[in-house]
Amino acid sequence: MTTRAEEIEAGLTTVRHRIAVAAEKAGRDPGEVGLVVVTKYFPASDVQILADLGVTDVGENRHQEAEAKAAELRRTRGPDQPLRWHFIGGLQSNKAAAVAAYADVVESVDRVKLVSGLQRGARQRDHPVDVLLQVSLDPPDHPGRSGAAPADLAALAEAVTAAEELRLCGLMAVAPLGEDPAEAFARLAAIRREFTAQYPHATRLSAGMSGDLEQAIAVGATHVRVGSAVLGSRPTLK
Ligand SMILES: *Cc1c(COP(=O)(O)O)cnc(C)c1O
Repeated sequence: MTTRAEEIEAGLTTVRHRIAVAAEKAGRDPGEVGLVVVTKYFPASDVQILADLGVTDVGENRHQEAEAKAAELRRTRGPDQPLRWHFIGGLQSNKAAAVAAYADVVESVDRVKLVSGLQRGARQRDHPVDVLLQVSLDPPDHPGRSGAAPADLAALAEAVTAAEELRLCGLMAVAPLGEDPAEAFARLAAIRREFTAQYPHATRLSAGMSGDLEQAIAVGATHVRVGSAVLGSRPTLK
């Protein structure tokens, strides 16, 4: 029988190999591509196993679940555990301060309204928060679209830059369903070129998941967010 730790280790090995192959194919150093393991719906014990296996970055998309897991990991590993928590989900403005209380990176900032709450949370914690702006790759009229329109990025970047406790680090995107991810990520690469011309320090690009990390690495992703390819299929809603 394989243990959960062995299962997760095998998933990690496979994903790290995929990242290395994709980076090499793109003429990039695999060390340039960071792995954020998306632990949403999986128990804190899996995060514990990941940390033991050397994973430094984990991603969560629901505030209550993320907050509870971050607290649990702090309890079990002590305050010095080097895990970085990435918040990657839709964010309500009334939860923004609470998210900044444990998240080291908030990747899903898609409107100016979130900035003051994030700033307040970061200030209370006395810890700067890294911010990525989530840009939508969907058509403008798409229902349930998440992410800022490319045209709104500049205003959003200005608001984040003006907040002392927030560090504008780059962009995040999800390839739309039903489209070739390579095409969506080609648009993303163009958006990013324009963005970094104005914000040369905001070079991070979080793109690529279990199904499309190769296409994202090909266009310059610096971080991939991978869940199921490491941890298996997600438990159904709790
Ligand atoms: C769930 C999720 C992922 C990971 O998806 P997998 O297909 O399991 O790798 C990545 N990014 C975001 C924003 C997510 O919500």
